[in-house]
Amino acid sequence: MPAAEGDTTREPMDGADPGGARRGVLSGAPRDAGQLVSTEVLEILKETGAYLTGHFLLSSGLHSPVYIEKFRLLERPDLAAKALADLAARFRGDRVDVVMGPTTGGIIVAYEVARTLGARAIFAEREGDRRILRRGFTIAPGERVLVVEDVVTTGLSVREVLDVAANAGGTVVGVGVIVDRSGGRADFGVRTERLVRVEFETYDPEECPLCRENVPLVDPGSRRLGPA
Ligand SMILES: [Zn+2]
Repeated sequence: MPAAEGDTTREPMDGADPGGARRGVLSGAPRDAGQLVSTEVLEILKETGAYLTGHFLLSSGLHSPVYIEKFRLLERPDLAAKALADLAARFRGDRVDVVMGPTTGGIIVAYEVARTLGARAIFAEREGDRRILRRGFTIAPGERVLVVEDVVTTGLSVREVLDVAANAGGTVVGVGVIVDRSGGRADFGVRTERLVRVEFETYDPEECPLCRENVPLVDPGSRRLGPA
């Protein structure tokens, strides 16, 4: 097990990013410029290309100088496992029975965290406006459930998974996420551990300073990487 217990990854840093003023990792001012980071995991995100800076069109229609493409991390099991070992370590004393995530990235996160903790790994799939357990997955009443996710933006998927756990009578021990980019808006009412909290401004297109500087706008939904 790589030593993640040193807690160095929880230290704030002022990275090489614009606006990266020193802040506590848990300060949660919404829509603050700059990034709150755990150094090692942020380096992994940058190394894999999961953490992108530039000028991006978000699915909300807003523009942003930062974009997180989580599958650049999740496609690298060696590096994802390093990050998730740190996340799992934070729940080592919680006697977790089941780790559960939402489809799609949450399946991978749940699997790796469960592997580390010696727990089962299950996932909840969307059905209409909620999530359900399929494929014979169950949570027995009283089982201790850890809910995990890759990137939290609004927190909706995590809340849906928490509902699944509650409806099954499970005992939620907490929520663990790799990247919280909710700007403090995702509050799940339970203990939540985040490897990285990324905060950055988003702009209405009419007010976007990057547009004013004629920085080319990238739509990650249609982005093509590598040779065509
Ligand atoms: Zn713009």
